[in-house]
Amino acid sequence: MLKDLFRKQKKYATIPSEQAKKEIPEGIVKKCPQCGNIDFAKELEKNLKVCKNCDYHYPLSAPERIQMVVDEERFFEFDSNLSSADPLSFPNYTKKLEADREKTKLSEAVVTGEGTIGGYPAVIGVMDSRFRMASMGSVVGEKIARAAHQAATKKYPFILFSASGGARMQEGALSLMQMAKTSAALEKMHRESVLFVSVLTHPTTGGVSASFASLGDINLAEPKAQIGFAGRRVIEQTVRQKLPEDFQTAEFLLKHGQLDQVVHRSKMRETLIQILDLHSGGRVDRADQ
Ligand SMILES: [Zn+2]
Repeated sequence: MLKDLFRKQKKYATIPSEQAKKEIPEGIVKKCPQCGNIDFAKELEKNLKVCKNCDYHYPLSAPERIQMVVDEERFFEFDSNLSSADPLSFPNYTKKLEADREKTKLSEAVVTGEGTIGGYPAVIGVMDSRFRMASMGSVVGEKIARAAHQAATKKYPFILFSASGGARMQEGALSLMQMAKTSAALEKMHRESVLFVSVLTHPTTGGVSASFASLGDINLAEPKAQIGFAGRRVIEQTVRQKLPEDFQTAEFLLKHGQLDQVVHRSKMRETLIQILDLHSGGRVDRADQ
């Protein structure tokens, strides 16, 4: 056919369309928010989600943290069915909770349970900042208080990884009460001579830093984690002074005696095993090795 001879030729090179871009599976590479280094997600996972270039510690989900710290298949969750009500009928709160449950597959912003670390039994809690910024609603407080109670009853050390934006505004005063509740539960546990190791990760702020996260017999933190109560700007305006550059970082707090050690993620598990070993006093038979 004659018209076949005059088929339109494409004149220009084509730029991949939006459709073509979408064909690259999402999340295959990650860009470091600190140095801009681009790494394959799989490589990053092998490196415990720490940037090889600048040592930035990416945030971890609760399941990822448990996998990195607890012995394989040795974690048994407590209270997985507890989920928040909407006591103040706060606009859209129920919807936001539902969306976060769907996104994270968690019922709330903290996962608690018991397991073994290097063969040593422990009660473990891990906050997950993907869920409402891991703010402390009544269920978060309740789960932590119950975990402390379990630790006191079983005489297992309690290891708690925090990461939180602070109080949960949608629960108002009920959220603030969790500071007292968790602190009281930890005091009760303390009277049973049970060890509490608090691990502060980025960011641990507001009511969480002002209650259980700072009450560890041993307080550890991840490098460069932001830890503080109020934000930098609020404090600067109040004290009318310029604050140091590293203010509210784990390193600053260590220098000023508020932390016992800043622990790189690659050393976290072995550090915890060492602490558990020192505090077992030879009484614990290691379950497995
Ligand atoms: Zn980096």
